Amino acid sequence: STAWRALAPASEPAWTPATWLAQVHPDDRAALEAAIALIDSGQSGRQQLELRMRREAVWRWRQATLLVIERGADGRPARILATLADVEERHDALERQRLSASLFQHLHEGLLVTDAELRVLEANPAYTEILGVAREELIGTVPSLLSPAPDDARARQQRAEMWSALRERGSWRGELDERRADGSLRTLQATISTVPGAERSTHHHVLVISDITEQRRQRELLERQALFDELTRLPNRAQLSSLLAEAMEVADRDGFLVAVCYLDLDHFKPVNDRFGHAAGDRLLVELASRLRTALRRREQWADVAARLHGDEFVLLLRAGSIDEARRAIVRVLRVLSQPYLVDPAADPVAITTSLGATLYPLDRQDPDTLLRHADHAMYEAKQSGRNGYVLFDPASRLEREAQVMAQDEIEQALERGELMLRYQPKVDMRSGRVVGFEALLRWEHPTKGELPPHAFLPRIEDDGLLVRVGDWVLSQALEHLAQWRRDGLDFAVGVNVSSRHLRRADFAAQLAALIARHGHDLAPYLELEVVETAAIAAEDSPTTSAQMKQCRELGVRFALDDFGTGYSPLRYLKDLPADTLKIDRGFVHNMLDDAQDRGIVEGIISLARTFGCSVVAEGVETPAQARMLLDLGCDIGQGTGIASPLRASQVAQWVRDFRGVFVIAPAGAGDGLARLGG
Ligand code: C2E
Ligand code: CA
Ligand code: CA
Repeated sequence: STAWRALAPASEPAWTPATWLAQVHPDDRAALEAAIALIDSGQSGRQQLELRMRREAVWRWRQATLLVIERGADGRPARILATLADVEERHDALERQRLSASLFQHLHEGLLVTDAELRVLEANPAYTEILGVAREELIGTVPSLLSPAPDDARARQQRAEMWSALRERGSWRGELDERRADGSLRTLQATISTVPGAERSTHHHVLVISDITEQRRQRELLERQALFDELTRLPNRAQLSSLLAEAMEVADRDGFLVAVCYLDLDHFKPVNDRFGHAAGDRLLVELASRLRTALRRREQWADVAARLHGDEFVLLLRAGSIDEARRAIVRVLRVLSQPYLVDPAADPVAITTSLGATLYPLDRQDPDTLLRHADHAMYEAKQSGRNGYVLFDPASRLEREAQVMAQDEIEQALERGELMLRYQPKVDMRSGRVVGFEALLRWEHPTKGELPPHAFLPRIEDDGLLVRVGDWVLSQALEHLAQWRRDGLDFAVGVNVSSRHLRRADFAAQLAALIARHGHDLAPYLELEVVETAAIAAEDSPTTSAQMKQCRELGVRFALDDFGTGYSPLRYLKDLPADTLKIDRGFVHNMLDDAQDRGIVEGIISLARTFGCSVVAEGVETPAQARMLLDLGCDIGQGTGIASPLRASQVAQWVRDFRGVFVIAPAGAGDGLARLGG
């Protein structure tokens, strides 16, 4: 209509309601249209509304006022005054206010504002929700969180700290325990801050709380898990160290003995295999609970049972004398030897235990050494037939010092390069083929001459040194092997590995690293020789069997050394990770005269055939032994009758010269068995 067109400023000739509408935010258009319609129809003389209009591509809030300043005879507007005011800033402030109000209402955290006297001015719904009190009950009161009951000393102390922090820094943050209205105890994370008011003299306090009861429960659970074994709820290895240190301190102070006992179940693995892991777990839990009840508790001292891992436990028993310690150990073993019901459908299972103990302060050592001594004693207990205990015998002080010196000497020998490997061939006595060499450690002692391994290896007590020597042997043997392969020689090298070395959690990784030093993969030509008893113990020790498994994954083979001397029920052998059985030289030595030993040799050979292992006879000294072994079906032999251990530099030549076992011996060789090396 003309009325509208008259409104248009000269600079914008085309101003009509339509061009206006085009500049208004789509969401505000309907409101403007409605206002125009009201004015246009004469129903209203004044309309005011806020709308967003575009200015340089951004929307800004305007207040539009439409005012009829002249009407026609029909009452409809003839002239209209339209004004626009910029209200962006006011809008911003309002928006912010709305936002904070909304935040206050919807915040997840509980929020409470008090005046300077701590009387509640306002609390948000989350606050009333967290503590279960109505807002109306709070307003005007001093909240209990800020003024705890006078009889709660801990809470009062905490509030005192809170107020001093508030005075000094203007804020405090911490955890508070508070009872909800329904009586349940909650843990709150609270922050309280002093906020200046409108006038300088006044201030408010703002309290922000969140309910962290659940998180704290989780955190405490994790802390407990860090100290306790999850399955049995016994202290774990981490906590054991501090318990042991504590026990030693108390023993020193009060003058009694602590029996540090290392305990390992015999044949636990078959239980797992036969009844499943859940049943194995049940057994461990039952065992832990028997331990708990078997332990003595006094006012100043309680015996301790801890679980290291798998079926290995440590006990700390207080005793007034060695005899009392023995009695305590026997009592524990008796309690543990009662049959266990692991499967309701099956008969209870009898489980025996091997225990090794050392007595502090008779064995005055640091905690780690004590545990190692107990561990050694436990291995002795296993070795001597299991189901019993062995007390570590701390040698007399002099002997001990001599031993420490000897150990230092061995360390120096290693550093000075006085250790060396000799190699003894393993040959196929039927075909005359050289199948491998066994590396045998020697110490070229500057004054005592060449020492065999039993003259020094058993003296190494320190695991660190033992590992260094063992690693040296492995790396040296791999060096030689690599050289022989480069020279076109094709045979395997056997390396003896002690069970203590093989028990190290990084054994396989270390071996892999040593192999990786060489250009090509030597693993298939390496055979680790482990004494049978250690390999059987591996069945009980998760770390050893894991290490053996990892080594086999590398492609390394295993031979069971001194086979036949350990007590190995058939069902164990079935699962043994062995490729070769080495018949102990004792049987080979006696088999010609002793039918029983010959029977054992025959048994081992047929066992190897059944399980698909190869078999090697040790200690072949005479042609008669070689012949009988061939008759019994064992083709591979090793022994002084074939060759004494050689220097590495002699090996290649020996292999080239070897013509088989039964060639006519050179004059002077004596017994008719070819001895071309050594
Ligand atoms: P083993 O593994 O049974 O090694 C065979 C031992 O028998 C060697 O003694 C060898 O010299 C000896 N022997 C060889 N042929 C004959 C024979 O015809 N008759 C008799 N009676 N004996 C023979 P050695 O070198 O003194 O080694 C003794 C033990 O020391 C080895 O027994 C092995 O268990 C251990 N050992 C050797 N080298 C190492 C090593 O590098 N590391 C570890 N951990 N142990 C080693
Ligand atoms: Ca061996
Ligand atoms: Ca052997």
